[in-house]
Amino acid sequence: MTHTIIIGGGIAGPVAAMALDRVGITATVYERHDQPADGVGGLIGLAPNGLAALATVGLAEPVEAISLPVRSMAMFAGNGRKLAEFGGDPAFHAVWRSELYGVLEREARARGVAFEYGRRLEGVTQDDNGVTAHFADGTTATGDILVGADGIRSTVRTLIDPAAPRPRYTGLVSFGGRPTVPLRVPSTHGSFHMFYGKKAVFAYYADDGNTGWYVNMPSPQPIAARDVDAVEWLRRLSALFTGDTSPATEIIRASDPAELVIAGAVDDLPDVPRWSDGRVVIIGDAAHATSPSSGQGGSMAIESGIQLARCLRDFPSVSAAFRGYELLRRERVRRVIEHGRRTDTTKAPGPITRAILPVVMKLLVRPGKYTWMADYRIDFDAPVAGAPARA
Ligand SMILES: Cc1cc2nc3c(=O)[nH]c(=O)nc-3n(C[C@H](O)[C@H](O)[C@H](O)COP(=O)(O)OP(=O)(O)OC[C@H]3O[C@@H](n4cnc5c(N)ncnc54)[C@H](O)[C@@H]3O)c2cc1C
Repeated sequence: MTHTIIIGGGIAGPVAAMALDRVGITATVYERHDQPADGVGGLIGLAPNGLAALATVGLAEPVEAISLPVRSMAMFAGNGRKLAEFGGDPAFHAVWRSELYGVLEREARARGVAFEYGRRLEGVTQDDNGVTAHFADGTTATGDILVGADGIRSTVRTLIDPAAPRPRYTGLVSFGGRPTVPLRVPSTHGSFHMFYGKKAVFAYYADDGNTGWYVNMPSPQPIAARDVDAVEWLRRLSALFTGDTSPATEIIRASDPAELVIAGAVDDLPDVPRWSDGRVVIIGDAAHATSPSSGQGGSMAIESGIQLARCLRDFPSVSAAFRGYELLRRERVRRVIEHGRRTDTTKAPGPITRAILPVVMKLLVRPGKYTWMADYRIDFDAPVAGAPARA
């Protein structure tokens, strides 16, 4: 029996722990925050591939129970003209991040995964017998392998390779809102409506009393958005959309400052050359963070956790398993990150892109263009290609 130290109780960590449990490997999750989910977190869209991956570890139902199936994403110009729409069956499931964290933790605990909070990883030592995590509070934990699921600003990534790339700013600052009172705005009939305004992008959902919205604000330089209070941000955000034909101003003005999620400057991650070192490996945003514009960061984190577990099941050594895992994941996440960056350029357009936005949108949502992303399925029980045949 192998015991795994997982650093990070976000999405990738608990999912990996449950996938490892399926292959007979125990895990303990160490999270730097003092309690489950930090209570903060906007709406994220789980793509069909992400939900299908969750199904392989029996998590589709509990996650569906806290999410909204979104029929389509409809894009509009700032003048209200519809540019394009893409749908699916459904297109994605919208879920509040803090609720997703909560469900993943509950499900993992039910399967015997232990969680320890207030444990910030600072260092790692390893030898032939195992790996030891060193935490800021002076405590340690030992195991056979250590999985860094510690997000885009991963400590584990820099412990593997001090020269590892740092997050790269996407040019967008992001905000979200979760109104607690029903808004008197036109229903979006099960779709998300996204408006490419003159100064920023506004997206919202309103159906059956459920409402959520977000803003992507272009800014050439990253700004410390949390240094400005929510009241002031609501004022600035609503001003961004005056003159556009969308419900943005109305929705933002009606928002309670307590409901504003200031996500701040948004980053992705350039290609990370090293994903593992000996008994230590990274998954999720720690290894391959994509811009939120791809709508795939959470789904990629889920897929990576599951594929790592399959590789540890099928390869005879840890090093072979980590190599197999990289082979399965690298090209796919590279394409997703590239897709996110391309989509970002439509949200912070230069004059030329703005002029041809309707054409760009039509190309972006061409039928079948993203089947490689959304139709990807993991057959958990199938042997990993390239692994030695099982007895
Ligand atoms: C504004 C915004 C919108 C997004 N929208 C979408 C979307 O629509 N669809 C989508 O799929 N994705 C979206 N994403 C991306 C998605 O949230 C991430 O890809 C996903 O959360 C990655 O999961 P993770 O587990 O790898 O990292 P995280 O969820 O970031 O979890 C990492 C965990 O590690 C912990 N940690 C960090 N350092 C340490 C340490 N040293 N010791 C112990 N614990 C540590 C952190 O506290 C955290 O709990 C969005 C992201 C942002 C910022």
